[in-house]
Amino acid sequence: MQHLTIIRAILCLALFAAASLQAAAPVYVALWFDTEDYIEPAADDAALRIARDLTGLGVRATFKVVGEKARVLEQRGRWDVVRALALHDIGYHSNFHSGQPTPALYLRDLGYVEGAAEFERREGPGTLDLARIFGVRPTCYGQPGNSWAPQSNTALRHMGIPVYLDEGSHVGLNDQPFWYGGLLYISNMGRFQLRAPLDGDEPPAKSNERFERAAAELRARGGGLISIYYHPTEFVTTEFWDAVNFAKGASPERTAWRRPRRRTEAESERCYGILHDYVAHAKEVPGVRFVTARELLGLYGSPSPAPAERARVAAHMSARQTFLVAEEEALSAADMLMSLLGMQPEVVDGPATRRAGDLHGASIARAAFERAKTDAISFIRANKRLPAAIWIGANKLSLGDFAATLAGDDQGAAEIVVRRANLEFEEYFSSEPRKAFDWPIHPEGFSAPELLELGKLQGWTLKPARLR
Ligand SMILES: [Zn+2]
Repeated sequence: MQHLTIIRAILCLALFAAASLQAAAPVYVALWFDTEDYIEPAADDAALRIARDLTGLGVRATFKVVGEKARVLEQRGRWDVVRALALHDIGYHSNFHSGQPTPALYLRDLGYVEGAAEFERREGPGTLDLARIFGVRPTCYGQPGNSWAPQSNTALRHMGIPVYLDEGSHVGLNDQPFWYGGLLYISNMGRFQLRAPLDGDEPPAKSNERFERAAAELRARGGGLISIYYHPTEFVTTEFWDAVNFAKGASPERTAWRRPRRRTEAESERCYGILHDYVAHAKEVPGVRFVTARELLGLYGSPSPAPAERARVAAHMSARQTFLVAEEEALSAADMLMSLLGMQPEVVDGPATRRAGDLHGASIARAAFERAKTDAISFIRANKRLPAAIWIGANKLSLGDFAATLAGDDQGAAEIVVRRANLEFEEYFSSEPRKAFDWPIHPEGFSAPELLELGKLQGWTLKPARLR
């Protein structure tokens, strides 16, 4: 009897602890606005109104501003808009957005390293304009439309932009944030990418219910992120500013630009009301906290992992090259490869090209393999990038084969058995080069398998982001 009472008490305590843990699990909400329309002046007023409404609600959002939009605000003397937005977080949304050529178009034919330099040459100046006009460096970037390209990752790191905040189907990981190319990626959020539609007939109660369900699911699993986005221009127009000017690769001169059709005042008020009420409701859902891109970085920490247990890493990497989720953190295939090589954790890129091996033997002599390891370390240190292949004398092993072989090496045998690659991380990438880049602004039929291939090569750096 005495024992049963104690057991019951312990069970009650455990249940109570589990329940309070669940109630305490944070549900973060990233609310962001692609602030891009530099043609319709009413879109300036929309950005102002939204920024002020949110400030009134005590919510901070992230405004991803296009370089040309910032310059236009400056030219129009809209310092009221600039000041209102600067109370929130400022992100970057490319220099010209839909002005041709868009990023996927100009990066499709370029390699990884050359493409990163080209991205920075074209997009870099806009971040300086944002810094001058808003007084802050943008914290995040997101591509215009579906015009994604993996070369941007390296360039963004170099430009001091640590977060990738957007939506797209190119790469994704369990509908939650992930590390990729050394950046904190919020994209491909699936059922956790929500919004209350401005048009159509979804009643507000239905939008709120979807939000509550998503929040409850995240709470139940210990916390997570919901991503919500709009464009200020949507609140004042019924057609997109860029679709009426730059569709299918069109590139009209500035003097020929057309303004998009406007909503009526009453219609705009109705839309502002939808957003206001949706945010006001979300704010009151248990555990919910609105966060900016800058705050997300604090919540998810750094892409560099702590050193991991060698035996566990070796067992994992010899069978499959993909990220490993350990108790405290996650390791990417690149993290584990470097750890097996005895290197300190640091952010590196995946290989710039895919190179097949031509070493057909079943094993490699110890001395030759040790030389190959030294060479791989030297390449990674010099280039801050993984090599596409590793030389064994006059032959080479593909990076995947090398990683599997390295992981399978017991560090004692005179001959090391060659193991073959199993690049499991590739399954997190889109295999639909047309659909992934489907955007009215791209030339008709645009498809970019080259960018998805480069993206997959960078899958070495992919791993889930975990809340601290
Ligand atoms: Zn956009």
